[in-house]
Amino acid sequence: MLCSKCRRPAIIYQRYSGLHLCRNHFVADFQAKAKRAVRTHGWLSPGDSIAVAFSGGKDSAALLHFLHGLTCGRRDLRLYAITIDEGISGYRDPAIAAGIAQTLGVEHHIFSFREAFGTTVDEIVRLRGDSLSCSYCGVLRRRLLNTAARSLGANRLALGMNLDDEAQSVLMNTLRGDALRLTRGDTRRAGLIQRIKPFMYIPEREVALYAYLHVEGFLAGSCPYAHNALRADVRNLLNDYAWRHPSTRHSLVRLGEELSSIGTGTGSEPRFCPECGETCGETCRSCQILAEISRDDE
Ligand code: SF4
Repeated sequence: MLCSKCRRPAIIYQRYSGLHLCRNHFVADFQAKAKRAVRTHGWLSPGDSIAVAFSGGKDSAALLHFLHGLTCGRRDLRLYAITIDEGISGYRDPAIAAGIAQTLGVEHHIFSFREAFGTTVDEIVRLRGDSLSCSYCGVLRRRLLNTAARSLGANRLALGMNLDDEAQSVLMNTLRGDALRLTRGDTRRAGLIQRIKPFMYIPEREVALYAYLHVEGFLAGSCPYAHNALRADVRNLLNDYAWRHPSTRHSLVRLGEELSSIGTGTGSEPRFCPECGETCGETCRSCQILAEISRDDE
């Protein structure tokens, strides 16, 4: 197949646009979409410090490469990479993330569950069973990312979520009937470092291709507890449907944005946990989890 724009050999076909793209036109299209997302949301301003949640996997490796390219000529912006070590044996060696950050020349920091919470996901699984691994890990990782970014003085937390992730979240919240999450814009809640997601309009397979083209040695394995992730069913369902209706993910993300712009008011009320001082919902889930684990430990 030849590139729809220049007739060179194509490396990807975008089903939703009907375009075949060569390497150069793919990279140009990818970066234009990510930059447009940053611009339209007002996600970068002079003086910003951006912490990138950097696991060393394909999404975050692509994100670190993209943001490094976007900010490296700017003296008014700072970029850090943050790696969270959840303590899952055989998965996510922080040294690999450190090596990629070093190659790019990006300041890198590692924060661990062990240091922050006195436990690891492996230990939680031993105490509480395998099935809750992702619910516990996700809550604690979000909290640690927020406190880590704040401790570095960052005012933006960049996440590698892609179009597939975002569409799955909208569909999951819909299937759960979770109107609050659907109508609550979470990026500007008090106490939360503002989250930015430059790849939210770019399909996962394009983010993976961008990473393959630009970053050597990113982590490719999957977490041993991934079978417990709630979104696995939704991912399969959506992949199947989107194969027949290629613009479905874009439509879901647009729907999610429209609903979150409505806002209900209740979701935007700042609440802070009396135990840890972090921002939280009705109850601080991370403190509940830590209390449960320490009870089990006694
Ligand atoms: Fe954590 Fe689950 Fe993701 Fe593994 S798959 S890193 S346990 S959230």
